[in-house]
Amino acid sequence: MSARKSLALIAHDAKKDEMVDFALAHREKLANYELYTTGTTGARILEACPDLNVHRRKSGPLGGDQQIGAMIAEQQLSGLIFFVDPLSPMPHDVDVKALMRLALVYDLPMALNRSTAGILLRSTRLQGLSTSSSTPETPE
Ligand code: PGA
Repeated sequence: MSARKSLALIAHDAKKDEMVDFALAHREKLANYELYTTGTTGARILEACPDLNVHRRKSGPLGGDQQIGAMIAEQQLSGLIFFVDPLSPMPHDVDVKALMRLALVYDLPMALNRSTAGILLRSTRLQGLSTSSSTPETPE
């Protein structure tokens, strides 16, 4: 894996346009990261910003959320930006909950809407400039 910081970006269908707007608005900052996305979210971001370093995983309902969750458990991510649709039932709701749960377990900086995502991108913690970090003990 690259030495650059890694950030996960996921958006539910009703939030994909917002994620594309967010990526366009923050493309200079996002260019500093390896970006890990679920399938369709990554495709939409790449369409709008082909210059970004996007690594697509499977679509969320087909296991992509779990793949990103595994990266959290392996402590391979610096942050998660997840634009959640709070108004639609999801077939993969359990995967969505599991992903958020792992972000909480590992104290991963996580933004669930656009306004917090902007704050997260400006944070020194995400950029690796802060020394404060608490991750749970991980047995080998
Ligand atoms: P998608 O997955 O980017 O492949 O649509 C996101 C999700 O619904 O979790």
